[in-house]
Amino acid sequence: MQIPIAKPFVGEEEKQAVVQVLSSGQLSQGPKVAEFEKAFAAAHGAKHGVATSNGTTALMAAMMAHNIGPGDEVIIPSFSFFATASCVLSTGARPVFADIDPDTFNLSPAAAEAAITPRTKAIMPVHLYGQPADMPAFEALCQKHGLVLLEDAAQAHLSRIDDRCVGTWGTASFSFYPTKNMTTTEGGMVLTNDDEIARKLRMIRAQGMNTQYYHEVVGYNFRMTDMAAAIGLVQLGRLPDWTQARISNAQVYNDRLRSVKTPVVAPGYTHVYHQYTVRVPDGVDRDAVAKHLNERGIGVRIYYPLPIHQQPVFQQMDGYQAVVLPETEKATRQVFSLPVYPALTAEERDYVIQEINAAC
Ligand SMILES: *Cc1c(COP(=O)(O)O)cnc(C)c1O
Repeated sequence: MQIPIAKPFVGEEEKQAVVQVLSSGQLSQGPKVAEFEKAFAAAHGAKHGVATSNGTTALMAAMMAHNIGPGDEVIIPSFSFFATASCVLSTGARPVFADIDPDTFNLSPAAAEAAITPRTKAIMPVHLYGQPADMPAFEALCQKHGLVLLEDAAQAHLSRIDDRCVGTWGTASFSFYPTKNMTTTEGGMVLTNDDEIARKLRMIRAQGMNTQYYHEVVGYNFRMTDMAAAIGLVQLGRLPDWTQARISNAQVYNDRLRSVKTPVVAPGYTHVYHQYTVRVPDGVDRDAVAKHLNERGIGVRIYYPLPIHQQPVFQQMDGYQAVVLPETEKATRQVFSLPVYPALTAEERDYVIQEINAAC
């Protein structure tokens, strides 16, 4: 059996939607983009959606819309994809890494609070693997210290705490890269409830213009195409069922995996399982287990093998050599993620369970 870690699905409806856009003549930043923005924001209960070319440019636009720049610090986790940090660097601000909660792998509010300095401008938790970070705690922390609250929601479409979706606490960036829970090929979106931030985001993603050829701020070309938005609209319609399928697959894994530590989900939290990530017990060689499973045809992957603060690019910068984040560093040595995509069959799932239970 060959079971990949992810299996993006694009159906006949998506293909027809793209052909319709191609025939319409409105190819970029047109009516489909506007429709997708409204639908994605509404699905999350957010007031505004601003579509972008990808999740990285969504993060960059969110930073810029809040005037984050040189002299500012932004507190983020180091246990994430690199774009969580590069968007901070792109503004000239300084990423400050804080440690994670070992159960949820998400940024720890206590660790974030301990990292606050007079230069701190914002905190950006990541809803890692699709589980919301502790947003009530981060909201209280940001109110107490007068900080901007951002969300890296690239992996967390429709995830929520009780009835409130991610993307409604702070200015939140999503990704529609093919392996994410829904795709537009490449694409991203920023959600916000703040009218003025939405206005700035719209300018930043289109050359700083509100009125044609009148540039109010420095902006770029972060626009989404209408082909991408048309795909996104169809995929958004499929997303609730897909999310349920991921959750069902995760429940079977939770019930039947024996030796590895399965995901810990806080009460009231809806984890949407962008990744289903387990931890090997202390003393077990994770890399050997992952290699063995790969050889058995199971596409397990390690997200992420090296924390961001230990990446070569940060080790070359002043002030990062001394950073020590024990829980982050331990997690990078112990985690691996298994196939949990909606189209996974019961037979494939059984095989994954059997092989993992036999491997460690
Ligand atoms: C995928 C991802 C991004 C970047 O999104 P792209 O669309 O690939 O640019 C940022 N942060 C996290 C946590 C991600 O998983």
